[in-house]
Amino acid sequence: MAYKVINPFDGKLIREFPNATDSEVERALDEAHEFYMDAKHQPILEREKNLKKVADELRANVEYYAKVLTINMGKLYKESKQEVIKTAQFAEYYSKNGSSFLKSQPYEIPDNYSYVEYDSIGAIMAVEPWNFPYMQVMRVFAPNYLIGNPVILKHASIVPGAAQAFEEAIIKANLPKGAFKNLFVSYDQVNKIISDRRVQGVALTGSEQAGKILASEAGKNLKKSTMELGGTDVLIVLDDADIKLAVKNAVSARLGNAGQACTSAKRFIVNQKVYGEFIDGIISEFSKRVSGDPLDLKTTLAPLSSKAAQIKLKEQVDAAIAGGSQIIWGDTTEVDGSDAIFNPLIISGMTPNNPMYDQELFGPVAQILPFKDDVEAVKMANYSNYGLGGAIYSTDLERAQNLASHIETGMVAINQIMTSHAEIPFGGIKKSGYGRELSDLGIKEFANAKTILYR
Ligand code: NDP
Repeated sequence: MAYKVINPFDGKLIREFPNATDSEVERALDEAHEFYMDAKHQPILEREKNLKKVADELRANVEYYAKVLTINMGKLYKESKQEVIKTAQFAEYYSKNGSSFLKSQPYEIPDNYSYVEYDSIGAIMAVEPWNFPYMQVMRVFAPNYLIGNPVILKHASIVPGAAQAFEEAIIKANLPKGAFKNLFVSYDQVNKIISDRRVQGVALTGSEQAGKILASEAGKNLKKSTMELGGTDVLIVLDDADIKLAVKNAVSARLGNAGQACTSAKRFIVNQKVYGEFIDGIISEFSKRVSGDPLDLKTTLAPLSSKAAQIKLKEQVDAAIAGGSQIIWGDTTEVDGSDAIFNPLIISGMTPNNPMYDQELFGPVAQILPFKDDVEAVKMANYSNYGLGGAIYSTDLERAQNLASHIETGMVAINQIMTSHAEIPFGGIKKSGYGRELSDLGIKEFANAKTILYR
């Protein structure tokens, strides 16, 4: 059985889940289609209220939902609670604003009249990762449910408990059958679902490798897709930055979620005039982190999501060192008594000829490099196949905004951590994927923007 909950802290198998049968898949597709057809005739108000009920359920039982997350993928309990609340906020946001985003829009045309209305298109196949098991699903579910697109979920095989808990929240909120279905499916079954005529969209959050496969499956079937993939986001510290703020945020942006976020600040690029001060601050903060059981409130550095993730990261770091990088703080020795803990590490000297240069290091490993001026900073930031987010620290807002315009990513944060908010579009360019989640753009990704001409 592929779907298993293994506590990453102690390696104990908690539960296994059987794979979905083909007839279960077929039933899910039927129910999804029924929901799609019914929703066309139902007022959107009903779905707004239902989304709010899902949010209420998550808020009312935050401890329960948070514990599931921590046990499934090792997130610090405090961070798990934050994720549950943020997941509820995403549902509340679309419950409040979704229908206004979907209002018909008039278009001017000489001697004629026209408008565009936003209609549902059918079921969406959502393939989601383990790093934010509820939040990632809600980003796809909330806008699509509101417009009337049912969502079928294939969650990561290491977080089946979280997938089930998300579905439980939907059931407890009494959403109609077919609106959402979690299925423990194989890759082959995912491909079959994508090719089914009742499915009209594919949404993936995950690795570049999975992105290439799922985007091509969607393409083969001429189905629209959104790809939220990895990144090697920079955190640029200019010579006029508030260094205390830059250090504080750099540490949170690199070590939050044990470093396993697509928008984690993975490359610190620092003006040489403030390089020493910045690095001292980072080392001082990194060394305060206490690794341990993520359910223990004293723990400030969680294990990685699995033993496999720890092994992969160790191999990547070893390859980076063999390729010319240097460890400037920390070490890679394994922590006794835990399966997946990876201690924080700072490495330098990562040059474009290093085999790990453009790889996503998914864990608490910070890369750091100095630069001499803003032109060089932009060049270094953009020398990447990825283009998700990035952050700039400067006390001169105009200078930072000017620099932000030159950064080749989908998002840039100035003097703050690059993270998602329901109100603003989220997504990348280049190998970080395409399409946008959240905000008004997120709800229109899988909408039929239907043009109506009239006289
Ligand atoms: P994957 O991209 O492999 O997994 C993400 C999701 O895609 C999971 O549900 C996975 O299912 C599914 N998936 C993968 N391949 C296929 C396929 N061929 N057909 C259908 N579904 C598929 O990420 P990993 O969990 O393996 O992590 C590997 C690396 O990917 C990380 O170290 C990190 O670098 C990156 N990553 C980036 C994320 C981000 O937010 N940017 C999120 C997760 C990973 P299953 O679990 O069953 O394989």
